[in-house]
Amino acid sequence: MASEFDLIEQYFTRRPRRAELGVGDDAAIVRPSPGHELVISTDLLVEGVHFFSDVEPESLGWKALAVNLSDMAAMGATPRWATLGCVLCPGLGDGTSAPSESSSWLELFARGFFSCADRYEVDLIGGDTTRGRRGATTFSVTIVGELPHDQGLRRSGAQIGDDIWVSGAPGRAAIGLAHLQGKAELRDTLLSECLQALHRPVPRIELGLALRKIASSAIDISDGLLADLGHLLKASGTCARLQFAALPEAGLSRDAFLAGGDDYELLFTAAAARRGEISAVSAALNLPLQLIGRVLAGNAGELKVIDQHGLDITPARRGFDHFR
Ligand code: ADP
Ligand code: MG
Repeated sequence: MASEFDLIEQYFTRRPRRAELGVGDDAAIVRPSPGHELVISTDLLVEGVHFFSDVEPESLGWKALAVNLSDMAAMGATPRWATLGCVLCPGLGDGTSAPSESSSWLELFARGFFSCADRYEVDLIGGDTTRGRRGATTFSVTIVGELPHDQGLRRSGAQIGDDIWVSGAPGRAAIGLAHLQGKAELRDTLLSECLQALHRPVPRIELGLALRKIASSAIDISDGLLADLGHLLKASGTCARLQFAALPEAGLSRDAFLAGGDDYELLFTAAAARRGEISAVSAALNLPLQLIGRVLAGNAGELKVIDQHGLDITPARRGFDHFR
């Protein structure tokens, strides 16, 4: 197998768009834009926990960066620079060979990673690469973004009386996962949409940027809509009542919508006076934005969920659990 340095040179070295110094030295050097703050976040992807051993490496490369970009979106930040840590263990794939150490596996992983990086104009400026013992291949991405001074969308900004919104169609990734686990049987368009949501999530970067001056708070849905809303409400010291105009039927679809993880849609709050602007953002981005409830005064983090018939359906679980 190639040496660590060959791998880095071959797959992970690209000329950066906007860094003073990228891959190849002891550290990278970047210059933040004047008047901006740096926004930093890290996410891990662990074999057997976050992805199956037989995952397509190209999709995994995309997702490794996309889940980090989603955190930038949730802050309203513009993503700029990323670092990538790789622990490559034998056993990924069919359990006997070591595809994660093979050049073709890494080449595909890098292709997916850079297709996401190119789409969002992010530079890979460094990282670390090591072989692991037999076990769980792991990728760790750190992303650095920029925000104009004091414009970050924090979890703690929700105000009593604000509307609660969610982007896109939460739940698809969890339904796709249920299909792969044999707990659901999907076909045709729905199957491809759900697998796409699971394997190639689209970080809502443009939405985050558009919401900077509109939303009072935001979070991305990685754990499940109710769980992540709970985090936002706790941080804001508020509670909420959710009422859905249309709720998927009881069962897998509803559970996935309310509590499925891995979606990377944005959940955000905004004053009711901003509804017109939010509709305009939705139209401009061609992205559905659903008004799903209201922030109330009360016990921090508490949630009441009402269906379209006015019935209380507060689920026992808020996070992704149904499919474990
Ligand atoms: P050091 O010994 O100083 O940690 P390394 O030999 O580990 O340096 O890395 C050499 C260069 O390659 C550094 O610039 C590092 O940031 C970069 N690098 C290592 N692994 C990766 C990777 N997976 N992706 C991008 N850059 C990497
Ligand atoms: Mg190193």
